[in-house]
Amino acid sequence: MDATEFAARLERARARVAAACRRAGRDPAEVAIVAVAKNFGPQDVAVAAACGQTRIGESKVQEARQKIPLCPGGVEWHMVGHLQTNKARDAARLFGMIHSVDSERLLRALDAACGEAGVRMPVCLQVNVSGESSKFGLPPEDGPSALEACAGLACVEVVGLMTIPPFSRDAEEARPHFRRLRELRDRWRAAAGGELAHLSMGMSDDFEVAVEEGATLVRLGTALFGARNGRGAGARAAAESEATEQ
Ligand SMILES: *Cc1c(COP(=O)(O)O)cnc(C)c1O
Repeated sequence: MDATEFAARLERARARVAAACRRAGRDPAEVAIVAVAKNFGPQDVAVAAACGQTRIGESKVQEARQKIPLCPGGVEWHMVGHLQTNKARDAARLFGMIHSVDSERLLRALDAACGEAGVRMPVCLQVNVSGESSKFGLPPEDGPSALEACAGLACVEVVGLMTIPPFSRDAEEARPHFRRLRELRDRWRAAAGGELAHLSMGMSDDFEVAVEEGATLVRLGTALFGARNGRGAGARAAAESEATEQ
């Protein structure tokens, strides 16, 4: 990955975020980009960090465990993919934020692991707003009880919600799912006893729509690093099947 190329893509992505914020009457400072580096190596992460993009996302613990020691310091690592309970200890050690907590069981395992590691972990609850059976995420009806369970945890703090809408060629089709996540957040805030400040939603194909609907964290892979294996729908489908395999 060439630094000039990465810098140009980053600038373009930031400009698109800013334009979406303007359309929605939002402050661009409310939206952060997480550069999803899966399938890309330590050199690519180093380039991103040198360009000032220090929030880096990974979707597999295994890959992160190998990559992170080879990357420069000063990177904030975000876990965005499906996390198995038996990898909670690795996750506690490797990541500064976890976007994809999708069960009470995982919440408790993470809390114990973060206690052992002596860290506090901000997390998002992943919600399956579309009800697609192939997707990870809590069913919306389980959200309030998961949030109540969190209130008693010492080390894990739920700071927001995350979702992955069904793939479509038309980003507009994702809009109702993003809106639904924001509405759930607004409704659950009271039960959470916290701000639920974050909405992690939007990927390379639909992040502008997500920002218009309130995203505070957009997870961009292809838009910044280029194609992983194929483009557009192909890359997206590959991302989802990878997530399923873990
Ligand atoms: C791969 C991945 C992304 C980034 O996907 P792009 O379409 O390349 O931007 C975002 N979120 C998750 C959970 C992913 O697995």
